[in-house]
Amino acid sequence: MQVNTGRAGAILRIDLQALRANYQILKTQLGSAACGAAVKADAYGLGAAEAAPALYLEGCRHFFVAHLEEGIVLRPLLPADAMIIVMHGSPVGCEADLLAHGLTPVLNSLQQIAAWNTLATDKQTRLPAFVQFDTGMARMGLSPAEVDVLRAEPQRFAAIDVQYVMSHLVSAEDQANPVNRAQLEKFRALRALFPAAKATLANSSGIFLGKDFHFDLARPGAALYGVAPVAGQANPMRAVAHLQGRIIQTRDIPVDTGVGYGSTWRSSRPSRIATVAVGYADGWLRSLSNRGTVQIAGHDVAMVGNVSMDTITLDVTGLPDDILAEGALVDLLSDQLTVDRVASAAGTIGYEILTSLGHRYARVYSGSEPLTKTV
Ligand SMILES: *Cc1c(COP(=O)(O)O)cnc(C)c1O
Repeated sequence: MQVNTGRAGAILRIDLQALRANYQILKTQLGSAACGAAVKADAYGLGAAEAAPALYLEGCRHFFVAHLEEGIVLRPLLPADAMIIVMHGSPVGCEADLLAHGLTPVLNSLQQIAAWNTLATDKQTRLPAFVQFDTGMARMGLSPAEVDVLRAEPQRFAAIDVQYVMSHLVSAEDQANPVNRAQLEKFRALRALFPAAKATLANSSGIFLGKDFHFDLARPGAALYGVAPVAGQANPMRAVAHLQGRIIQTRDIPVDTGVGYGSTWRSSRPSRIATVAVGYADGWLRSLSNRGTVQIAGHDVAMVGNVSMDTITLDVTGLPDDILAEGALVDLLSDQLTVDRVASAAGTIGYEILTSLGHRYARVYSGSEPLTKTV
């Protein structure tokens, strides 16, 4: 589909070349372990239909989604040798849908194991699966008590081909946190339950915890899309999302004039205000009100007043007229204005900035080619 950037109020450029370069950075870190990709939540808001094929071109063959429905949508976009893993496993009663769409479940509970084993038995085959252990997050996966049940009753997974055991790290971005090692030790011990299975533990940050955490396969998401994987260290990843909003009006206001809903900002001097066509309906979070920074032609500019549904307002006092013309573009996400910097101003994490990116932007993809030749 042709995107009309000329009439768009805001333009989101997705640099698939940067995504592919990020994949190679992680692959290099991993050495001999395989590098999969988390493409859940529409590839963290950037578009799974574009991101997943681009990653396939770089050699990625393991794609992780959260919901069954995400897997069903992704399946026809990837060649058959790409494994699509549904991390929530099957919703109760939908196991046959996974099979029909060539998706691999993560089995997180005894009930999911029973249902998958029953389906495999009915089909007189063995069906592939991942099995997740809870090693400290208390969110998903088998509890220690459930592991004991499986150990005592291995027939419960007799018809399941457990290809990978899996767990998830709680605080991997915090390298000094002792919970990382503690989870690693638990995971190592649990592997004995499925000695023939491969193993996957690391998310993006886990990759940077070193070789012990790599096992056979990593499951990075955030770092692929440009989020810094290690807290307090320079970000080795390239920015993938570049966002620009258009100036739709500028005005000069006298001293002590309120700007925006609730007049949460008042001018302390005669000021010039520029209004830009991006708002919280586009995922430009309202918590950035009076806190965010954007750039116009390389100049840092403060967001002033509350973020509205469709607009933000900027204090552009003193900037040259020629960069403030109606229709001029303002940078909101760029190599300088990183998702982590915006997240920090908004009081959140880069993940939320990316996954909030709205659907009103003119989206422009570059840096990859369709898979039609390989499919
Ligand atoms: C989202 C998710 C990932 C990817 O995590 P990042 O921190 O984005 O790299 C990996 N594994 C599981 C279980 C997840 O939920």
